[in-house]
Amino acid sequence: MEKDIRNLKVLITNADLTKKIKETADEINSSYNHDEVLNIVCVLRGAVMFFTELAKHLKMPTKMEFITLSSYGNSKVSSGEVKSTNLNLPDFKNENVLIVEDIIDTGLTLDFLKKYIKQNCCAKDVKLAVMFDKKCARKYDIKPDFCAYDIDDKFIVGFGLDYCGLYRNLDYIGYFE
Ligand code: 5GP
Repeated sequence: MEKDIRNLKVLITNADLTKKIKETADEINSSYNHDEVLNIVCVLRGAVMFFTELAKHLKMPTKMEFITLSSYGNSKVSSGEVKSTNLNLPDFKNENVLIVEDIIDTGLTLDFLKKYIKQNCCAKDVKLAVMFDKKCARKYDIKPDFCAYDIDDKFIVGFGLDYCGLYRNLDYIGYFE
């Protein structure tokens, strides 16, 4: 059975993830003025673990926002349409915004969200931080500003990433052989 946890192989250990996410946070710290507020926007549910791990290391005054978007549903391929169940964001009053996402694949979700925030939320600047960049799958002209790992065309789970709602709680990244 493909989705049985016994067929799951470890791709990235927790030790490697936490080290790499700290390095990504260091890069973010050196890209922003530490006197300015940074609004970090967590794209639920997949980004939850990356978001909390990253946030622990940020040095500037930081505010957290949470939205829920998806383009996959219960499938292993993008549906081609962004679904939102919670897109409530405040007026950012000309402050910086960093969108934090688990993985950029076709780019549909982040292309939509970046444009949405720019058009509706009065942000000074909108940047993107992702845990994984699946460059080979890209269909939209969008690039993350900060990225922990590049990944080839593999369906991965763990550390927030799911398959049919399962495996988000794993503290490592795995894939099904
Ligand atoms: P995009 O809109 O860029 O096509 O897709 C981004 C979303 O697809 C991610 O937020 C994530 O939910 C899902 N996704 C893309 N690749 C993977 C993968 O390898 N594993 C899992 N679990 N989700 C993925």
